Amino acid sequence: MVDYARPIIGISKCLEFDMCRYDGSRINNNFVRNMKNYVDFVQVCPEVGIGLGTPRKPIRLVKIDGVKNLYQPSSEKNLTKEMHNFTKKFVSSVDNLDGFIFKRDSPTCGISNVRLYHKLGTDSGYQKTSGMFSEGVSAEFPNMVKEDEKRLENITIREHFLTRIFVLANLRESLELQSVEKLFEFYSKNMLLFLCHDEKLTAELGVLFTNEDNFKIISKKFENIIYDILSFPIQKSPMINTFDYMFNFVKSKLSESEKSHYQSLIDEFENNLITHSEISTLLYSWALRYNVQLILDQSLFDPFPKNLLLDLVESKKQYSVL
Ligand code: SF4
Repeated sequence: MVDYARPIIGISKCLEFDMCRYDGSRINNNFVRNMKNYVDFVQVCPEVGIGLGTPRKPIRLVKIDGVKNLYQPSSEKNLTKEMHNFTKKFVSSVDNLDGFIFKRDSPTCGISNVRLYHKLGTDSGYQKTSGMFSEGVSAEFPNMVKEDEKRLENITIREHFLTRIFVLANLRESLELQSVEKLFEFYSKNMLLFLCHDEKLTAELGVLFTNEDNFKIISKKFENIIYDILSFPIQKSPMINTFDYMFNFVKSKLSESEKSHYQSLIDEFENNLITHSEISTLLYSWALRYNVQLILDQSLFDPFPKNLLLDLVESKKQYSVL
């Protein structure tokens, strides 16, 4: 059984935790409920945090003199300063955030698609922007993995989110040990996963260990490359190359029909007829049969607890690799 590092994840408190929405409601969310077993949540409701009660009158983002403001039309209160101060206090109260799940569409917590009205007193004329709190937190933690609860209903987006937060939590723990050896262990365990994301950057990671042995110098460069590698989801072409890399370890021991079965699965994967997990499972079973430890040790097969995808798999949402 894999021993996962626990990601530290910020969360808009109205998602599963508290009845703090403007109308006194809470949003039930199965995914967040399941995550409680595996991550440490940092819960926050910025609107309650600045003293707005529950329930409360709606607030909105509006441009005043060309600048984004947080405003409550019913009371004509400008809440911008209070929200900026609250955000500063929040970010200084947490040391690390591997990720954040924000409430979609909120003028405070939304990460995109939030309405920024062009004028006070009218509903017509707006552009899309990010919420005032989420913007401040993102500026303070630029490498934090952020998503909203609606996007996480897409299985590809969720898989990418989970991969990143669990790998980054593991990286955080490895860096805390301040040892080049531990960093190399982390790299070795995740190498095939990284290859599926970006072959060139993964090669750069490996080169770091051949040219340098000072932890401080290696770790800074190492961390930045990992953020870049994980910033894009797994791509099909490097993934097939990685499958072939693993296949080469067992190829000579397989029968002709097994080899041709593998090739037909690759063709089907290329044509979106099957998911990558069918090929991973096959390769893993061959690695088990021939005891190929280098493959068996890889995080690629279990980068995060699989049951965090269960609700989507059960509802048969579409899966695709980009
Ligand atoms: S969206 Fe943010 S501010 Fe609004 S209720 Fe949820 S946690 Fe509070």
